[in-house]
Amino acid sequence: MTHDGTMLAVEGVVAGYGRVQVLHGVSVQVRRREIVTLNGPNGAGKTTLLNAIMGVVTPRNGQIRLLDRDLVGVGPERMVHLGVGYVPERRQIFASMTVLDNLWLGAYHRLGREEKRYILQEMERVFTIFPVLRERERQVAGTLSGGQQQMLALGRALMAKPDLLLLDEPSLGLAPLVVAEIMRVIAELRRGGMTVLLVEQNAKAALAIADRGYVMEGGRIALEGRAQELLADERVQRAYLGGRGRGARTENP
Ligand code: ATP
Repeated sequence: MTHDGTMLAVEGVVAGYGRVQVLHGVSVQVRRREIVTLNGPNGAGKTTLLNAIMGVVTPRNGQIRLLDRDLVGVGPERMVHLGVGYVPERRQIFASMTVLDNLWLGAYHRLGREEKRYILQEMERVFTIFPVLRERERQVAGTLSGGQQQMLALGRALMAKPDLLLLDEPSLGLAPLVVAEIMRVIAELRRGGMTVLLVEQNAKAALAIADRGYVMEGGRIALEGRAQELLADERVQRAYLGGRGRGARTENP
């Protein structure tokens, strides 16, 4: 791992919805070109933390910085311009639109600012990463398999040329082989220079490609460390790697 500076710094963030406080002072750092995982049971606050980073929820306290920029108050619609790509849980692709149109939408903010050929270059890159999307470019997105829809969601985020990807449960509901393929792609993106914050309940698959990880419980960081250390940690093994039914995993998609 290279120590070439912090890309994302979340410090002491307190946030929630209305009067419900979900995050009770959360600090997370992601360095450039790192894959950092965020594990933890349902309801721990992982999605809320991503929402706070994206500006969907506004922290009541604490700081969030992307490089030198204060992200608090920036708002989600600006994030794509700052180089942050977000793939929300359950993908949220446009089901009635074609694969191609979904990908174009990922580059909407570049249209009119850049020559079309640069955007087409990006699309070519996405098709190289996910050949199945090229094969199915005219297909209506809602008719793709779950794994293909996840690939489309990732591909759409890549169309914006982000420097930092926030991924919320990309493996949710997918078969093991597809999960492995998604993880392989994430690792490959990082080799190409991407920085990734990866929320995952599948701790084993995520930590296998990660540099470092955080475990969140009850709106707090309960554990943090290098990926290998977390994989070997008894508490992590008991809670997340012990197989279905024994662990903290309460959902079995
Ligand atoms: P999951 O894997 O289930 O998404 P998570 O760790 O991502 O879990 P969050 O989605 O951040 O957890 O939820 C944390 C808490 O915030 C939960 O108690 C949840 O009920 C609550 N919550 C989430 N979204 C909202 C909302 N829009 N309004 C009110 N409460 C919410």
